[in-house]
Amino acid sequence: MKMISEFRNLGKVKLLIKKINGLVKKDKIYRFMEVCGTHTMSISKFGIRSLLPENVELISGPGCPVCVTSQGEIDAVFDLIKENKPIIATYGDLLKVPGSSGDNLLKLKSLGYDIRTVFSPLDVIKMAKQNRDKSIVFLSIGFETTTPPSAALVKVLENETIDNVYLFVMNKTMPNILEFIAKQKIVKIDGFLCPGHVSVITGESLYLPLVDNGFACVITGFEPIDILLGIYKLIKQVNDGNYFVDNAYKRVVKSDGNKKALELMHEVFEESDSYWRGIGIVKDSGLKLREKYDRFDAVKKFNVFVDHKSEIKGCRCGEVLLGLIKPYECGLFENVCNPENPVGPCMVSSEGTCAAYYKYERKR
Ligand code: SF4
Repeated sequence: MKMISEFRNLGKVKLLIKKINGLVKKDKIYRFMEVCGTHTMSISKFGIRSLLPENVELISGPGCPVCVTSQGEIDAVFDLIKENKPIIATYGDLLKVPGSSGDNLLKLKSLGYDIRTVFSPLDVIKMAKQNRDKSIVFLSIGFETTTPPSAALVKVLENETIDNVYLFVMNKTMPNILEFIAKQKIVKIDGFLCPGHVSVITGESLYLPLVDNGFACVITGFEPIDILLGIYKLIKQVNDGNYFVDNAYKRVVKSDGNKKALELMHEVFEESDSYWRGIGIVKDSGLKLREKYDRFDAVKKFNVFVDHKSEIKGCRCGEVLLGLIKPYECGLFENVCNPENPVGPCMVSSEGTCAAYYKYERKR
């Protein structure tokens, strides 16, 4: 608790706001993308936007793994469940994600399908041993932070010759999507508030191509002091025209990341092209099981068809994920789409931008 209170200290917050105000040039607009969904939530929760000068804008990026998963993959999961009736092991964040037909995992569970929430992929091992006569599909989703535990699951399946567990792999990685955003210049930004959780695994080098392309980069944590310090450092890099990867989260992020976790991830998975909601296919921005582990691939085992063109009518998650619109600019926000009745994944996930705006930044 002492640690957290230190990073929420009101006096320090006021001091940082004063320093930010002293640093900004009045004739310039500063736009920074916070990549991580947890940053998005913290920024909304602590009212960070309202504390900043008017010419400093924070734009939410594609850092919520549930939100960026293609509608086609979500729909394919539901098809797999209905046709094959396996036990589904999933993180809680996916339970209310809507399919294009209006299904979600909770609804399917209420209809009798066997949907179980897990806190770690390794929970699946016990489940598999207790249900030898059934197939279990683990919905593997997430960025570099949550992929190593999925890789660990595959290694245990291999070592313990467990043959009734399959992974529906929807994992993505950060480097190529960030480069894509930077190079395509879809949205005008000066720099990135780099994701602290992902950086724990990848280390600092992930962001070097961004600074080489003239973007400020600061890795930071999730408390108000962390975020404000990150913004202060971003503004300073822009003012100085001196771009580098500044690690402002050294209490957690080592410069070379977590090598063991990376090795494990690369041993089990290899890069593949991946479809991002609202963006389309981004080269080598996703992961698939290496050929050696093909037998654990749920898509192959159950011969699942993924239609990436599938989408939910009226939902503008894709534009929200690229920072092209704010959630309240979607016509469905609040009245039609809300956490009780979510239309798109950005309203469902605990890291979703629409969920963050609905919970903390609604204009009342
Ligand atoms: Fe999609 Fe709902 Fe967000 Fe609109 S408010 S973009 S429908 S999740």
